[in-house]
Amino acid sequence: MTDELSYIDFFPYDAPREGQEDMMQTINQVVREGRNICCEAPNGFGKTCVTLAGVLPWVKENEGKVLYCARTHKQLDRVIEELSAIDDGERVVSGVSFRGRRHMCINPFIMENMDSSIPLSEVCGQLKAEHRCPFYERLRGLDPYDFLDKIAISVLSAPQIIKVAKKRKLCPYELAKKLAKVVDVVALSYLYVFDPFIMSTFIPEIETRLSNVILVQDEAHNVPSTALDSASDSLTLGTIRQAMREANKYNDTLGKQFCRGLAKSVLDLSSEMGDNEEMILKPEGIMSAALENSGVEREEQPLAHMEDLGAKIKIGLLKAGKFPRSTIFRVAKFMQRWVSHSDRVDYAFLLKSEIRRSSRRVSLDLHALDPTSVTQPILSMIRGSVAISGTLSPLEAYSEMLGFENSAVRASFRSPFALKNRIGIIVDGVDTSYKSRGQDVYTQMAEHCAAAANATPGNTGIFTTSYHIGRSLLKMGLEKKLEKKLFLEEQGMKSSENDKMINEFKSRATGKGAVLLGVQGGRNSEGGDFPGETMECVVVVGVPYAKPMPRIDALIAYYDRRFNNRGRDYAYVLPAVTRATQAAGRPVRRLNDRGAIVLLDQRFATPYLRRFLPSWLEEVTTVIPNSPEMLSNRISEFFAS
Ligand code: SF4
Repeated sequence: MTDELSYIDFFPYDAPREGQEDMMQTINQVVREGRNICCEAPNGFGKTCVTLAGVLPWVKENEGKVLYCARTHKQLDRVIEELSAIDDGERVVSGVSFRGRRHMCINPFIMENMDSSIPLSEVCGQLKAEHRCPFYERLRGLDPYDFLDKIAISVLSAPQIIKVAKKRKLCPYELAKKLAKVVDVVALSYLYVFDPFIMSTFIPEIETRLSNVILVQDEAHNVPSTALDSASDSLTLGTIRQAMREANKYNDTLGKQFCRGLAKSVLDLSSEMGDNEEMILKPEGIMSAALENSGVEREEQPLAHMEDLGAKIKIGLLKAGKFPRSTIFRVAKFMQRWVSHSDRVDYAFLLKSEIRRSSRRVSLDLHALDPTSVTQPILSMIRGSVAISGTLSPLEAYSEMLGFENSAVRASFRSPFALKNRIGIIVDGVDTSYKSRGQDVYTQMAEHCAAAANATPGNTGIFTTSYHIGRSLLKMGLEKKLEKKLFLEEQGMKSSENDKMINEFKSRATGKGAVLLGVQGGRNSEGGDFPGETMECVVVVGVPYAKPMPRIDALIAYYDRRFNNRGRDYAYVLPAVTRATQAAGRPVRRLNDRGAIVLLDQRFATPYLRRFLPSWLEEVTTVIPNSPEMLSNRISEFFAS
């Protein structure tokens, strides 16, 4: 029997800090036992590196594979950086990170015609089947071991793969897939694992025995909502009308009649709905109404006919060198799924009307209600999973929603520096609940925000529950009260514009400092990295509860049945507190970062919400009265000390 490898051999830094060795050891043990674990550790703890060191011994001993899932490209690159540090050029471990085809494809036909309405996998699949992608053809026969030997690197990020592949005129995406077969760690988006369609094609392609796979779920608080999104679908009235025009173009009477009937049924049902409203539908009702309005008999099977026609249209377009779009196909597939799910109690069937960019958008929404119906089938096939996050409290709740068994390990690890480097303050006497909202409250809130920002030496982030509340703070003179420049995250801002603004915001940190006004759950409060002075204080304005809508009621009712009457906690309260604590964690990104966290809503002080605060925040948080002066003093004293 070979000696067991030690996790310390895979830890790339001098000596693990307090807590890190605990976490490595715990993960190592759990993986060896083939179980699942839910871990919470604060930002700056080194979760990525510690997790890799914990799982790699078993993986190396057993020719296993780590599928390391994260949400953003930055997080995936971070995995590869840590793995490179572990490898240190010695080629003892190997790994690749993936982007989607959208980011890795180099075929000009795809790049010029790409749009979000068509799954690229479908077009790529057709091109490959017809030997019409030269970048793929050149990859035939490539041996991944030989390739890694030739380039003499065993850990490659997606941008590195794109670079080496482009040079050799090879498809970067398919090259990454070939390399994924032979490396120890594959860093990839959640969608590869939690989208049933992608999973069913991707995993067989990397030729890995699932019983040897360890799944790491980074930022695992996102997994329940990601799983629900991937199992949900939506069809707009606009797409149905496009399908009607397409049927007309191809002289297809049955398709045209059915789409017209479906469009009329959707329009009739939505005619009384206001802006941004939704209603629960009886799933079979819309199909019957569509058939009735179209005059088509059920026996004529319009959906099967449209699926067949749509597939032929797509093949024809591709043969003619055009991009294979067919909305007839899209409508047929969606409605087939709608009908086949009609007796599923873990789905809600909705009609939604909303205003987007000043025009009305009506859609049929097939809304999944059970994240475990996506996660559990995968968990049952693999060896085990490690779920990690800085905001996974309470662990029991997340463990259940992730689909872990009752005996799964739950562990919370603490930062040795938390107490002296952080201060948490809840301000009493103000809140953003509907009954409290008004000019008085917004004025007081603007004063608190300014008091916190002006008392902070570096930058401050202010994250409100909505853009509307942000605008209300501005109306009450927030900008004038600030002694620093204000940067505004605007709704619908392009990501390049946001990046430019954030760079400028960060560059002011070492001068007088600056203030960023954004929203909770937005790209800056969830994914933004603000180390050191680039954000030393954060003000979380309000509790970001979801707007009460029929889909939330349906989720609460379903969760009540699924999770022992905890529907409201799991479906409504917990997502709000997690969003708030994600924003609260922005100033403490590294172990030595100091940060002041202000929770500007008295409801955070109630036992009802406080029980969901993560330990790294709860243990440093106190409540103060409604006094901007006292808030300013507390923050000044903290930074002076
Ligand atoms: S094989 Fe690669 S390059 Fe070719 S179409 Fe597919 S993703 Fe693009």
